[in-house]
Amino acid sequence: MAKNYEGCAIGIDLGTTYSCVAVWQEEQGRVEIIHNDQGNRITPSFVAFTDEQRLIGDAAKNQAATNPENTVFDAKRLIGRKYSDPIVENDIRLWPFKVIAGVDDKPMIVVKYKGQEKHLSAEEISSMILTKMREIAEAYLDSPVKNAVITVPAYFNDSQRKATVDAGVIAGLDVKRIINEPTAAAIAYGLDKKINCVGERNIFIFDLGGGTFDVSLVTIKEKVFTVKASAGNSHLGGEDIDNRMVNHFVEEFKRKNKLDISGNAKSLRRLRSACERAKRALSSMVVTTIEVDALFQGIDFSSSIARAKFEEICMDLFEECMETVDRCLVDAKMDKISVHDVVLVGGSSRIPKVQELLEEYFKGKNLCKSINPDEAVAYGAAVQAASLSEGIKNVPDVVLFDVTPLSLGIYAERDVMTVVIPRNTTIPVKKTKTCFTALENQPNVKIMVYEGERARATDNNLLGYLCLYGFPPGPPGHPFDVCFSIDENGILTVSAKDITNGNTREVTITNNIGRLSTGEIRRLIQEAEYYQAEDQKFLRKANAMNALSRYTYTMKNAMKHTNVSSKNLPMDEQKVRDAITEAENLLADNQQLEAYVFENCLNKVRSIFEPVVVKRKRARNDEVVALDE
Ligand code: AMP
Repeated sequence: MAKNYEGCAIGIDLGTTYSCVAVWQEEQGRVEIIHNDQGNRITPSFVAFTDEQRLIGDAAKNQAATNPENTVFDAKRLIGRKYSDPIVENDIRLWPFKVIAGVDDKPMIVVKYKGQEKHLSAEEISSMILTKMREIAEAYLDSPVKNAVITVPAYFNDSQRKATVDAGVIAGLDVKRIINEPTAAAIAYGLDKKINCVGERNIFIFDLGGGTFDVSLVTIKEKVFTVKASAGNSHLGGEDIDNRMVNHFVEEFKRKNKLDISGNAKSLRRLRSACERAKRALSSMVVTTIEVDALFQGIDFSSSIARAKFEEICMDLFEECMETVDRCLVDAKMDKISVHDVVLVGGSSRIPKVQELLEEYFKGKNLCKSINPDEAVAYGAAVQAASLSEGIKNVPDVVLFDVTPLSLGIYAERDVMTVVIPRNTTIPVKKTKTCFTALENQPNVKIMVYEGERARATDNNLLGYLCLYGFPPGPPGHPFDVCFSIDENGILTVSAKDITNGNTREVTITNNIGRLSTGEIRRLIQEAEYYQAEDQKFLRKANAMNALSRYTYTMKNAMKHTNVSSKNLPMDEQKVRDAITEAENLLADNQQLEAYVFENCLNKVRSIFEPVVVKRKRARNDEVVALDE
């Protein structure tokens, strides 16, 4: 594989509910899944805003129940989509945070940060999560990280892929490659099982995560991974299952208490957390309980749910998964008995009923559970990142051939979708189609580019358009070439060329509908720096306050034995007591104060206290108290 950059590169699985970061360890010759600051190998894809600070990951998720309107999750469900997309409209109804339509119908998330209303795009929220993942890697590697491979669901369309690259750029990353999640999992599985991988093996990757469902059929032959077909559903995952459980218990609460909690964001959030826990429990137990204190209007809620009931309320979702599995095999033109291994990826693939249906479908084949479903994607991304990097020699050579998730084409006369690159074509790919003008003396042509499987062009998703000008007057049927080129990231470039009379013009697609412009990206990078600076400012103030508070406590402890009234105190000890009072007053009334005020105060109290301690020590032959820095 062509190595295209030097230095360390990380693999990031930017998930809907959780994200994971991994790196190839050259010395050990293996991938390391990196722990975050809480010691967890996966980090919630949550960002929260408060009056004082911005929180990302575990800290954001942990406070979600008390700050639901300003805790953003599921940004991946919005990325590269329009506000008026029915899927987005549906999601908005379920989220506790507000989403409004921005410029060009772009969905904008509304939060309150430091008392001010902020409008953020899904790219910005995703960039914050990516920044967190980068920082987790930097803390572990003890060096700056720039290069990354980021994974996306296989069915992500062109706009969603481009938006993910934009998110990476805003996070200060150089996105070396975007690869499909199931393909990354196939790499992890292929390397895990390399001893058995003689000849060609057909691997079916079943990836059911928190918000998305993705399947791929991958053929592995030595170092070559070829995706034969992929299919998926952008709206099928653990959260949809959680929603089913939430609805079930909302109804139960209504029956028991004659009260409807569905309009109360806080109650719903707390109920959802309890449902998610119960769902996980049901993967190993046949019945579980659910308890939420003071769920609504002070009423405690307690109930139980059996695995059979859980399966009943989610059965149509599970069956939808199996239909997608079938579609993928049809697209790959492969019989299910030719599949050698079925690999489970994504947290929701642990659900017993899902596993049972899969085993049944694949005629009793044992499912492969040897790779961790939460980490396989980041693992594969890290291998791909290392194999693209120049400095790294020890990494297994992996050659990837992925496929396009959707057909790409142009609008032809009478709204016909003329496909230039059919779905599931191996990428990278370049295809040219010769087209003709429809009218007499037509001076120019507007080429509308669509993606999707519908016969009518306008029923598909409009990606953008380009114009070709200056055809000479003449009858209809003037020829021109339209060239579609898809790179390794699955990103499309379209150009058009007038081929008559050696008169050539080439235009690269100009209007990428919904995509951030270079100017906007620049602005968002500056904003990301602003948030970063604000986070650091917050941390500096919190650290300075903590240090001052600890020092004051130490001073108070040390002075405890001086039980005389303050007017009888020696001059320097009175000074210490005054300094303690001053520090305590500052700490109590801290809202408007900057970090340096606490730092200066600490220096001042230290300079007053330390000589007193030394003096006392000399006087009483005491030990100097241990002082916190
Ligand atoms: P992922 O996006 O792959 O990290 O998957 C996260 C989803 O998996 C969340 O919806 C979790 O609730 C779900 N999940 C994790 N563990 C389990 C489990 N043991 N049983 C059912 N669902 C699970």
